[in-house]
Amino acid sequence: PQTTIAKHVGKLGHAPMIMRSVSVLAVLGRGLLPADTPFIRADDLGLTRGDGIFETVHVRHGKPWKLDEHLARMARSAARMNLDLPDLRGLAELACEQWPVDQEGALKLVCTRGVDGAEEVTCYATITPVSEKLIALRTAGISVTALSYGYPAAARTEAPWLLGGVKSLSYAINMASQRWAQANGFDDALWVSSDGYALEGPTSTLVWRKGERLLTVPAKLTGILAGTTARYLLDRAAELGLVAGEEMVTPAELVEAEGAWLISGIRGPVPIRKLDGVELRTDSATNLRGLLGF
Ligand code: PLP
Repeated sequence: PQTTIAKHVGKLGHAPMIMRSVSVLAVLGRGLLPADTPFIRADDLGLTRGDGIFETVHVRHGKPWKLDEHLARMARSAARMNLDLPDLRGLAELACEQWPVDQEGALKLVCTRGVDGAEEVTCYATITPVSEKLIALRTAGISVTALSYGYPAAARTEAPWLLGGVKSLSYAINMASQRWAQANGFDDALWVSSDGYALEGPTSTLVWRKGERLLTVPAKLTGILAGTTARYLLDRAAELGLVAGEEMVTPAELVEAEGAWLISGIRGPVPIRKLDGVELRTDSATNLRGLLGF
């Protein structure tokens, strides 16, 4: 791939930022293009309104992992946003064919509402390398801060226009939450509802172990994104000798858990070592990485 990794010293934050440029670009209707092709129009609603949807898929051994689950979730997001989503499987596979089998990649599938007034979606796929820093967190673990999400846990289930459970392109709040956490000395954030329940990370699902049970937050009751990786894990909990379940949980209860993780398809299972400075138990007995193949 045309991988160029340029180092930039960031003005924000304390650590130098690594800017990772796109290595593969495939555009629906146009096929593979040089990765740095500027093809999005300035009036595309994906740019001007964040009006669109996306998925990020782990590429391992040259293949997209859990592609069916990601395409199914993207179809659900599209239906909720009244977007006419074309079949992106071929585009995803075309992009992955360009990717080296020995490198972890992040395949992003994007569908925007397209150019204002044109009523034709814009769809493309990119692949970028998974950063070494992210890979290191799977063993190092992270320190997390609980940040208010500002709504009660059930708010989005009662208000479909708030797009609970939709993976929309409007991720400015997600990114701002992570920047806030990092500016205050944490690695990541855990959103907490105004009525005190842990929801999810800005780009990850919360999973924890309580005794023999491997648990996650119920997406249907909260409007969080239904994580495909947490689902994969909970469907195979029996292989770890555990029983899967979904429960509401407070940050204080997480401190009592046998272990807690923030999980996504790209990061894998990342142990939460500290929550707002309080040490959590690290559950080395529960081999989530092995089960997920990381
Ligand atoms: N929750 C949010 C808000 C996310 O953005 C993501 C993925 O990026 C996840 C959860 C985890 O989803 P998945 O396991 O399907 O990668």
